[in-house]
Formats: sequence, C-alpha cells, structure tokens
Amino acid sequence: NSSLSLMLQAFPFGEKRHLLLIQDVTDLQKADAMRRDFVANVSHEMRTPITVLMGFLETVQSLNLEKAQQDQYFEMMMAQAKRMKSLVEDLLTLANLEANTLPAPMNVVQAQTLMALLKNDAEALSQGRHAFHFETKSSMNLVGDERELLSAFSNLVSNAIRYTPDVGSINVKWQVDAQGQGEFSVTDSGPGIASEHLSRLTERFYRVDRSRSRDTGGTGLGLAIVKHIASRHQAQLHIESTPGKGSSFAIRFPKERVTE
Ligand code: ADP
Repeated sequence: NSSLSLMLQAFPFGEKRHLLLIQDVTDLQKADAMRRDFVANVSHEMRTPITVLMGFLETVQSLNLEKAQQDQYFEMMMAQAKRMKSLVEDLLTLANLEANTLPAPMNVVQAQTLMALLKNDAEALSQGRHAFHFETKSSMNLVGDERELLSAFSNLVSNAIRYTPDVGSINVKWQVDAQGQGEFSVTDSGPGIASEHLSRLTERFYRVDRSRSRDTGGTGLGLAIVKHIASRHQAQLHIESTPGKGSSFAIRFPKERVTE
C-alpha cells in the first residue's frame, strides 16, 4: 500500500502543444497531514484543562462553599493551570528546537555537574518514593549546550520517576566506552513498555496510556524534546524495555561530543 500522490498540471505551450507537469507531492501531503494532526492535538490538549477549570470556577461561583472546600477547589484549579503552563512551555521548547537547524554549540559541559543537578531534582521530585543510584563512571565530559542536555536528561529521569511505582529503583549512569563514545542512561524498574509502542514513543503526543500520562502531569511532548536535543548533538536515543520488568532510555553521543 505505497500511496503515491501525484499532481498533474497542463500548461498551453505553443499552438498545439501542452506542457504536462507531473509532480510527486507525497511528502508535501504527508507534512500537511502531520501539521493538521498536530494542531488538532494541541487544541484538544488545551481544551481539556480549560473545560475542567471552567467547571470548577462555575462550582465555586454558584455554590456557597465553606472556606476549606473553596480552598480545595482553588488547589484543583491551580493544578489545571499548571498543566496548561507545562504544555505551553513544552510547545515553545519544541518550536525553538525545530526552528534551530544548526548543530548544538561546542561548549564543554561538566558531566559531574549535570549528574549533581539531576540528583537534587530527582530526590525532590520522588520525595523518598524511589531508590536512586547515580553513577558517573567516567571523568570525561560532554560537548554541547548545557541547558539542553540538562533538559533532555531530566526529562528521562522525571519519566522514570513518574512511571515507576513507589519503592521502585532508578539507575542513572554516565559512561564512556573504549572508542570514546559517551552514554547517558536511565534504567527503571517500572511497568515497562510493550515492543509495538517503542518506535512511536518520540512522536509528539504519543502515549501508551493516555490517562496515566496525564495523571502524572505529562504533556506527551517529553520524548519528542529529548529526541530533538539528542539529534542537535549528533546523538541517538535508544529505548529498551521489558513489560513487567522496566525500561532503559539511553542517549549515545559520538566521540566528537565527548572530551577531557
Ligand atoms: P509524557 O508526558 O506522556 O510522559 P513522553 O513523551 O515523555 O510524554 O513519553 C511518551 C510516553 O512514553 C509516555 O506517555 C509513556 O507511555 C511512555 N514512557 C515514557 N517513559 C517511560 C518509562 N520510564 N516507563 C514507562 N513508560 C514510559
């Protein structure tokens, strides 16, 4: 079912002749369909928290609630507003990454510093619910954009925290192999992901379980952002997972992106 879209156009050319133009517009049509899907997805993702927020507002307005009850509603409203804010922030991050076609800069980024920042954030987010193991196995550093690298790594760590049930374990590792290639990896003992989903995880808004992702505060854009950042550093995202056992997300950097 290889659907090929052709566009035919005829132009008068001389007295009895026509110029027939046949164009392969398959890619153009695909890009257009993707853009339409994306706009529909964004609209849907925004509409849900707005609708919920309006529902809460109406309730507070129309019912004579006790102060404590009112506070509960305000908290739920804040959660919906935060959800919209994260979505808009992730959309902006993605738009900026997509607009920037240049490779990431060549700044030296201390791996130790990144690991320390990640550890702090991870512990704050998990609040003691997970057993962490942070390993910096190499004194080599990364070459790239510090803010982007931190954002990619912390997306992977926060996914591990959000999807791994309490008392699960999470290993975060930076290592460099004999050929000088670097690898940052996050391995969790969470629910794992069935193989049929793996190749689609980095698509914008693709989720294995929609409600679970939303409940944990996910925007559905995290892995799309990670993939973009990796590719700006000529790196690759590798995902391995065994349902029921856990998942491992690794970003592999070429030796040009690893330094003393
Ligand atoms: P989300 O905001 O939904 O987490 P992501 O792009 O970060 O969006 O991830 C896409 C989907 O990949 C998630 O909805 C989830 O189904 C799956 N996923 C990501 N990380 C993990 C993980 N560590 N364990 C299990 N599933 C995961």
